[in-house]
Amino acid sequence: MAYDFDLFVIGAGSGGVRAARFAAGFGAKVAVAESRYLGGTCVNVGCVPKKLLVYGAHVADELEQAAGFGWTLEEGHFDWGTLIANKNREIERLNGIYRNLLVNSGVTLLQGHARLTGANEVEVEGQRYTAEHILIATGGWPQVPDIPGKELAITSNEAFYLKDLPRRVLVVGGGYIAVEFAGIFQGLGADTTLLYRGDLFLRGFDGSVRTHLKEELEKRGLNLQFNADIQRIDKLEDGSLKATLKDGRELVADCVFYATGRRPMLDNLGLENTGVELDARGYIRVDAQYQTTAPSILAIGDVIGRVQLTPVALAEGMAVARRLFKPEQYRPVDYQNIPTAVFSQPPIGTVGLTEEQALEAGHKVQVFESRFRAMKLTLTDIQEKTLMKLVVDADTDKVLGCHMVGPDAGEIIQGLGIALKAGATKQQFDETIGVHPTAAEEFVTMRTVTR
Ligand code: FAD
Ligand code: NDP
Repeated sequence: MAYDFDLFVIGAGSGGVRAARFAAGFGAKVAVAESRYLGGTCVNVGCVPKKLLVYGAHVADELEQAAGFGWTLEEGHFDWGTLIANKNREIERLNGIYRNLLVNSGVTLLQGHARLTGANEVEVEGQRYTAEHILIATGGWPQVPDIPGKELAITSNEAFYLKDLPRRVLVVGGGYIAVEFAGIFQGLGADTTLLYRGDLFLRGFDGSVRTHLKEELEKRGLNLQFNADIQRIDKLEDGSLKATLKDGRELVADCVFYATGRRPMLDNLGLENTGVELDARGYIRVDAQYQTTAPSILAIGDVIGRVQLTPVALAEGMAVARRLFKPEQYRPVDYQNIPTAVFSQPPIGTVGLTEEQALEAGHKVQVFESRFRAMKLTLTDIQEKTLMKLVVDADTDKVLGCHMVGPDAGEIIQGLGIALKAGATKQQFDETIGVHPTAAEEFVTMRTVTR
């Protein structure tokens, strides 16, 4: 049967655009449908605008440090409207770049919501298209617990477009987004409280990292409330919001920001017209090659709920394009040792096993841990400490994990990700000459076993 397209991609986000562009480059006839914004979550309401706001908040640190270096500054004033307008302009520029990338690769771009009407058929704006392969790359959406007053809360989607910086913010959650936005709001001057339901935020990260970040955030004056969960939100007469916690406490703020995870975006996708099944968590079930339970339909990225990071969605998109249209270049995605950063203030960089994971996996673990005041702060009164940690297998000397909390952690951890992928040993770390004077050199100069 002749199809309209070889590949029909639903969603022009990180994964979808990568798969579409490369499939077209390999000679396939490709269409992409996008209902909302080119570039998806990462470009529009994720990584990119988030990092721009983090940079904005970080300026406050630079200003605070300036006096130690002899600079006298007039009292500064921050304007949220300017930051958001400039951010929006940059996002629009990126939207245009994504459009050009697709169109110049020969991909047919369809603007509108796509709905599956069969295993090889998609409907967009009343028009039906057939395709030999369909790729679902529809991403995710913020999930807010069903509590009375939840409609009064905002999520990351809305935070990027707030008209004004709220004066008092309650951030709910203890994952990447909660910690990053708590830093943004606080850094830009809002009185910020982070509420997390458990004992300590960032579950799954290395224990030393979690504790160290907690201490550093507290030093900065962020109000951290653990074992705290909101039961209901009410609007007060003056327009502010009252959050009643499960333990009966009441907190008043101008904005309640929820970052309690993301669900797969499956709204009106028409899965019922296909044989696509979901897994126990509600994400699209795929095999090792991203094939769903309907053989002609594949899925990648946040909608399969494996690792919700842009570079992972990109790698999955590339793997799908190669497997379908350039099989001789196909390589499975390696989910081991994925480096990642949390752009908190100070940021976290991490790759490989945490100490807890290494112990649980039965390794005989050696820990090398260092805490120090960064050189840049020595001329200031700021007492912030940087943490660096190596988790090593005592039997093989292999470095199992590298963890950091401190300036530029995301930048530093990228290179260590390559070392871990190459299977580097602690001895090879030790034999690597440091770059002096940097913070990063500490990763090759730690000699004393801490545990
Ligand atoms: P998406 O990028 O979400 O793209 C899905 C696209 O599909 C969207 O454009 C959507 O409009 C479209 N779509 C959905 N349904 C339909 C339909 N039926 N028809 C047509 N189009 C449809 N990751 C990092 O690696 N680093 C970070 O710093 C980082 N920061 C983040 C910050 C925030 C606030 C958030 C929310 C996420 C962040 N992420 C970060 C995660 C990252 O954004 C995602 O992992 C990534 O975007 C997933 O890509 P995707 O292709 O699966 O989906
Ligand atoms: P996460 O899954 O990282 O964190 C969700 C947080 O919300 C957890 O602390 C969780 O607690 C808590 N939570 C979940 N349900 C509830 C509830 N009903 N009530 C109270 N608290 C709840 O999700 P995020 O929304 O922060 O981010 C989504 C994903 O996006 C991340 O996992 C990450 O993959 C990606 N991302 C990546 C970034 C980066 O690379 N820098 C930045 C931002 C996002 P508990 O731990 O107890 O379950």
